[in-house]
Amino acid sequence: MPDSDYLVKAFTKNGAFRAIAVSISTITEEARQRHNLSHTATVALGRTCASGILLCYTLRKTKGHLTLNIKGNGPLGSIIVDSSNEGTVRGYVANPKVECFDKKGYVDIDKAVGNIGYLHVSYDTEKGLPYKSSVELVSGEIAKDVVNYLASSEQISSYLSCGVYLEPNSGKVLQAGGILIQTMPQASKEDIKKAEETVSKLDPFSILLRSGLNLEEIIRKALADFEVEMLLEFEGLCFHCGCSQNRFESAVASLGKNEIRKIIDTVGYAEGRCHFCNNVYMVQKEELNILLNRN
Ligand SMILES: [Zn+2]
Repeated sequence: MPDSDYLVKAFTKNGAFRAIAVSISTITEEARQRHNLSHTATVALGRTCASGILLCYTLRKTKGHLTLNIKGNGPLGSIIVDSSNEGTVRGYVANPKVECFDKKGYVDIDKAVGNIGYLHVSYDTEKGLPYKSSVELVSGEIAKDVVNYLASSEQISSYLSCGVYLEPNSGKVLQAGGILIQTMPQASKEDIKKAEETVSKLDPFSILLRSGLNLEEIIRKALADFEVEMLLEFEGLCFHCGCSQNRFESAVASLGKNEIRKIIDTVGYAEGRCHFCNNVYMVQKEELNILLNRN
């Protein structure tokens, strides 16, 4: 098992199913620390990151970014994840401090996200217009909503389980990831019946990871009735944001002379925070003057 976050692809030798699984414990912990997330927001963002990476690998082969935006009527507000098929992901939650627990004291994601709203997916290849598609939320539990998206927008029948397991007191991420199994057109009714029976008995993903199984073992368990071919697709998946001081300066420059002069005369400096990674950028008065003269 690789030390870092990784992704494994597999297919059954009879061509009936394809599976992709990710382990993103490090990414989810980095997101928690960067955004100072509550337990609830950590679970929600971790599940959305796992779903975003899995969708990115499933839907599009060309180089690009997939943005998954889950916008429910619950207190967390929007959850936005941007993943690339080069193994990077970044994301944030609109209300990162919100906590939502059920009567047993477990994080209640359905309630925190809400079951009224939309799941939006867009894929940008940086060439031409991005591909966009949306469906209404069906549960707020995230995995079920993504499965519904794949069925209604992509006509792909699938099984998805995502999980995040936290250290109870500190909220530190101990395990996070997800598995997506897709039915291929050549699957027989018998194949589908067998696979459905097995996955219906499968423990939730965070419990499987907690029990010490690696991704390959989880895939073999989920497709226990079939001969499976494994492919380690990606090692070193990471939280990465493309923002930078240069980009921030360009954004400030694009405000135009009048606006920059107003900033110099009032606050005296420009400050910006990146939603995706929470990095803060500053442009001081001297640089603002340089931008003003450059415009
Ligand atoms: Zn950023």
